[in-house]
Amino acid sequence: MKLKLEKSDFSEFIREVAEKSEITEIICTYYGEPDRHMKWSCPFHNEKTPSFSVKSNRFKCFGCQKSGDSVKFVSEYFNISAYQAALKINQDFGLNLRPPTDTKEKPAPEPKERPLTEREKQVQIDEWAFTQHDILLDYFRLLKEYSQEFPKDNEINWKFSAFLDDFGTVEFLLESLIDKHKRHSMYDNWQPTIERMIKNFKENIKREAKENANKSNNSVITGNGSSRTSTRLTATASTEKH
Ligand SMILES: [Zn+2]
Repeated sequence: MKLKLEKSDFSEFIREVAEKSEITEIICTYYGEPDRHMKWSCPFHNEKTPSFSVKSNRFKCFGCQKSGDSVKFVSEYFNISAYQAALKINQDFGLNLRPPTDTKEKPAPEPKERPLTEREKQVQIDEWAFTQHDILLDYFRLLKEYSQEFPKDNEINWKFSAFLDDFGTVEFLLESLIDKHKRHSMYDNWQPTIERMIKNFKENIKREAKENANKSNNSVITGNGSSRTSTRLTATASTEKH
C-alpha cells in the first residue's frame, strides 16, 4: 500500500478530469444556458453584453480575461481547490475516474501504527542501554563512595553492607552494556533487575537517611552522612527520569 501521495498523483487526476469532462455541459449544469450565440454573461465579473464563451473545451471571457478548463471553472465558480473541483466533476458527471486516494483525502496512517524497522528497534535498544548504563554507573559510583565513607563495620550504617554485595552484579552489567553485541539478548532480562536494584537502593537510602537524621544530635559524622545522602538521593532521582 502506498503511504504517501505524491503531488503528481493529484495533478495527474486533475488533468484527466479536465480532459474527459465536457465543459459546456458543466457550465450549463452549474451556471445556466448560453444565449443563441452560445455566449454567457460572465459569472466572474459584472457585464451587460455576454463575452463568456467556450472553445476547444476551454472557457474564455473577453471582458475579464479569465480562462481555463472545466476544473478551473468549477474551482473558480465554487471557490474550491482544483483537486476538490476535479472530485466534484468526477462524481457529479459520473466520469468514474479513480482519485489518487480512495479514502476521500483522509490523511495517511499515523507513523505510530507502522511497525518499527530493524534499524529503529536497534536505535531504541541503544538508547535504552545508554540510559541504563548511566543509571548503573551512578549506582556504582554511589556504592563505591559509600563503601569508602562508611566502612562495613560501622554500626550506624550496617544496613548498607547489603548494598555493597551488589558491586559484582553492577560491574558485570556495566561491562556487558559496553559490549554492544550482548545488548540485544540482555534487553528483556535486565530491565526488571535494574529497576528492582534502583528501587531497593533508594528505599534503603531513604530509610538510612531518616535514621541518621534522628541520630544527628549524637554524632557529627552521622550528620555529614545525612546531608550527603539527601544530595545523592536528588541526583539519583533525576537520573532515573532519563
Ligand atoms: Zn469575465
